[in-house]
Amino acid sequence: MKKFSIAIHGGAGAIPKTVPEKDKLIYLNALDGILRYGHDLLASGRAALDTVELVVNEFENSPLFNAGKGAVFNSEGKNELDAAVMDGRDRSCGAVTCVTRIKNPVSLARIVMENSSHILLCGKGAEEFAKEHGIKFVRNSYFFTQKRYDQWLKLKERNTTALDHSSDLTGSAKGTVGCVAKDRFGNIAAATSTGGMTNKNYGRIGDTPLIGAGTFADNATCAVSCTGTGEEFIRTVAAYEIHALMKYAKLSLDRACEKFVREILKPDTGGLIAVDSEGNTSCPYNSKGMYRGSADSDGLFEVKIWE
Ligand code: ASP
Repeated sequence: MKKFSIAIHGGAGAIPKTVPEKDKLIYLNALDGILRYGHDLLASGRAALDTVELVVNEFENSPLFNAGKGAVFNSEGKNELDAAVMDGRDRSCGAVTCVTRIKNPVSLARIVMENSSHILLCGKGAEEFAKEHGIKFVRNSYFFTQKRYDQWLKLKERNTTALDHSSDLTGSAKGTVGCVAKDRFGNIAAATSTGGMTNKNYGRIGDTPLIGAGTFADNATCAVSCTGTGEEFIRTVAAYEIHALMKYAKLSLDRACEKFVREILKPDTGGLIAVDSEGNTSCPYNSKGMYRGSADSDGLFEVKIWE
């Protein structure tokens, strides 16, 4: 059993191997720094729940990833953000969807979890709740990045939606973010945050804030965070499916994740990161690539985009 372990993702999709070397390095360095931060939090005894939130905050504050600052644009040319967090100790969970002025949606999700009797709050109601709890607000224009805006203009012209890592968008910023962790006390947790899909219908909700689809955690089995075409992860109840394969079919974490991604998830859809209560991690995907990293107390420390 590992004392602690962590896995992170910065999105999956049709990431071409022809990405210029300098762009590749920018992403690998960013992943490396965020993974190191999460690793050190766990090493110093921070709880899994705190760690997944703080790590996702780092992703949200970076313009490189499709969450918080780097969020993609919806069909109205605005940024609508989704996030969720779940604590494996007792399945406490919180989520927000379609928020437009919250700097760190995952932290609002945690406040929903800890300070309300609800699990999922949307739009105006979520923002009113945020105000009451002193959460940091920004103008919607804070989320503007030229690259994301240009991606949106392209897709709007074609009247289509896309994961922001599709090959047409070579060299541009990359996807949804997530973190799963096991701490020194044997607890696991998961968190996911996203701007969703470029040119999505306004009001569209993806898998990220839906507990059991894009995010799930239960100390008895695993903690999971997904990335890719949200509709497919909702249809397959992805994160819960991994849990169910472990709990009822008695598969190991690795076998459950592989079975799900190879046999259940539609090809070319995306991927996920997962950790079990022993501290094993698994990061399978069926898209061309996935920005990811994993580390543990036994010395594992790696960040990758492709195999
Ligand atoms: N799963 C996210 C969504 O559909 C998108 C992504 O992972 O890039 O909202």
